[in-house]
Amino acid sequence: MPKLPDATPRLILKVAIPVPLYRLFDYYAPPDVTESSLSPGIRLEVPFGAGKKIAYLIEAGTNSEIAPEKLKPIVRILDSKSLLSTKDIRLLHWASQYYHHPIGEVFSSAFPATLRSGKTAILPLQPCYVLTALGKATDSEQLKRSPKQQALLAYFQSHHPASLVEAELNNWDKNWRPALKALLAKSLIANTAAKIAYIPQLSGVNAHNTKSSFNEATQEDKGKLQLNPEQQIAIAAVIGELGKFAVFLLEGITGSGKTEVYMQVIRTVLERGQQVLVLVPEINLTPQLEERFRQRFSVAMTLSHSNLTDKQRHAAWLNMQQGMSAILLGTRSALFTPMKRPGLIILDEEHDTSFKQQEGFRFSARDVAIMRGKLLNIPVLLGSATPSLESLHNAYQQRYRHLVLSQRAGSAVEPTLHLLDIRNKKLHHGLSEALINELRKVLASGEQVLIFLNRRGFAPTLICHACGWVARCRHCDANLVIHNYEKLLRCHHCGREQRLPPLCPACKTGGLMPLGLGTERVEGALRELFPDKTLVRLDRDTTQRKGSLERYLVQINDGKADIILGTQMLAKGHHFPNVTLVAIVDVDSGLFSIDYHATERLAQMITQVSGRAGRAEKSGRVILQTRHPDHALLNTLIREGYRRFADIALVERQHALLPPFSYQALLRAQADNANMPLAFLQAVATLAKMHKSGQIQILGPVAAPMEKRAGLYRYQLLFQCDKRSELQKCLAELIANIDSVAYAKKIRWSLDVDPVDL
Ligand code: ADP
Ligand code: ZN
Ligand code: ZN
Repeated sequence: MPKLPDATPRLILKVAIPVPLYRLFDYYAPPDVTESSLSPGIRLEVPFGAGKKIAYLIEAGTNSEIAPEKLKPIVRILDSKSLLSTKDIRLLHWASQYYHHPIGEVFSSAFPATLRSGKTAILPLQPCYVLTALGKATDSEQLKRSPKQQALLAYFQSHHPASLVEAELNNWDKNWRPALKALLAKSLIANTAAKIAYIPQLSGVNAHNTKSSFNEATQEDKGKLQLNPEQQIAIAAVIGELGKFAVFLLEGITGSGKTEVYMQVIRTVLERGQQVLVLVPEINLTPQLEERFRQRFSVAMTLSHSNLTDKQRHAAWLNMQQGMSAILLGTRSALFTPMKRPGLIILDEEHDTSFKQQEGFRFSARDVAIMRGKLLNIPVLLGSATPSLESLHNAYQQRYRHLVLSQRAGSAVEPTLHLLDIRNKKLHHGLSEALINELRKVLASGEQVLIFLNRRGFAPTLICHACGWVARCRHCDANLVIHNYEKLLRCHHCGREQRLPPLCPACKTGGLMPLGLGTERVEGALRELFPDKTLVRLDRDTTQRKGSLERYLVQINDGKADIILGTQMLAKGHHFPNVTLVAIVDVDSGLFSIDYHATERLAQMITQVSGRAGRAEKSGRVILQTRHPDHALLNTLIREGYRRFADIALVERQHALLPPFSYQALLRAQADNANMPLAFLQAVATLAKMHKSGQIQILGPVAAPMEKRAGLYRYQLLFQCDKRSELQKCLAELIANIDSVAYAKKIRWSLDVDPVDL
């Protein structure tokens, strides 16, 4: 049927939809909207397939390659203007291109679940409490029989304006409700249901600290702390670049005062009325840092990590976006949170691989943070006791400013490291006689010991000593791990479990025997050896329940634990000031790996665990049990320290042309059979060889380090090039053509740019 042409062509919207497709989708705009009213980044609801989806506007125009009669109108517009700034939208486009990940999924990862599913972007009302006329006139002394009420009334009276919202009351004291209720009942305080816009304001040191269970040096609260010259240099360097883009690598051993540097810089950013984004690798690290920040700053602070409810994350995101909160403390997922007045980004423990997202949109929060800093024109501060080789290299190349804190702050002393040769030594559940004696001495003097073993469960292998049968996972290339306490065998890769068999299932006669070590087993041995000492085990099995890790940490810091035993959880930032001896039960398992990243991780792990010892004024010792006492890496590390190790490792990487002296991307493929992913990767390799320039190396396909996992067969193809732009060009062409490669739709593949493990 012939149609009359419209006077003005209808507006067509190109939108990004969170689906794994590398393209935009076109829709008609509603007839009554104009192009100028549609800002890129706004959320829209669109029909998609049989249902509807939330989409993000990329651009509005009048062109489409789709036939007009096939275009559908959108369902509705959700935002009148974009919740993201133009610069943050540019960041998402860059990330989508650099990581070769579909733009719709990249956009949706920047939003909290509530906004992703179309909820309105308004902050929930916060009850706000004000001082009444009676409250103003009342002398808080009159309430001295209930000190908490007295303190709260005094707090309101000293606060200008004399109104407080819940978040501020939480800052004052987590347990404010009973006192507030009493003051409401006495009509000293009234409830107004208004939403109060909280303007970040630095009102000096918070005078209303509550006693915290984390032992924090109280001197810093009183401002007595004398910064050492290195700290002063670091602080001045960062402050000097506020308002500009610059990257700083703050390298300082544990306890050297990095956090103090962060806080001093943050103070200046807050004084400028700007916001700070602080990223840490793990949720578990937020409480101690939060506590220190709260003691120091009386500004609104927001937490964002995966343990929050959707509602809390919604509020956290909007609080930053609307500029009501001054500091955001969060994990990797908080990276994209918008800031109304961005001032600074800090990444603590920058070397930690938790900053790399390992599934879906595989991005490095460190690298994206740096790009974000560049776009927002603000400094990025990376801190670590054990900087990644990439960051050190960048510092040596003067792309980053290198700031070094070389000594422990205050009077704390550095720990000393010793290798303990356990060749031909009798081991008692992994513990040598010499180590047991050391433990005995330290425990007898009432000090704490920390024992590190990076494997949970009782033992990693169950073997029949008659026929040699080994308990294997049927779905993975892996042994089942014995969990003796639960009487289970569990696969640590796919999670499958079975009862612990009483007899060998193969020969039906042989007795079964555990082989190797897990924390559960060492716990048993230690309890037997030191029955009158208190032991706390920290691993994924003992800290599953919400709040349990926090409780253990309090117990340890209150001196109510003598032996602390655990996995890599111990290596991450927690402070154990009373520990004077650290024992690393088994360093050898990390020494010989085919992945070139392994030695870097091992050196970081040893150094980080060592850093837990002797943080206070007691000196600490670290004992490493090994069967390779002559190993070059171990010797460099314990005699000359992490930096020397890193410098040697960098030279090795340079000779082998490995990152950071080249760039890599890993294409992974998996399916429930071995043929298809292999054939797919072979075809991709052939295609790549047609497109590539001579400089790109294509290695593989080869089997993944664990060829079969959770029933899937896994293979990979590695791309390597010493020019990032060449590699990027090749990847872009491959991705553009990948759907035409055999089996592309029958298998699951993913591209990992700058992989952190191979
Ligand atoms: P890091 O973050 O590098 O581990 P912290 O900033 O936590 O180090 O500092 C370790 C301890 O030393 C903290 O208790 C801190 O209050 C204290 N501290 C930091 N700087 C100084 C200083 N200049 N003088 C005295 N104590 C300090
Ligand atoms: Zn057997
Ligand atoms: Zn398994």
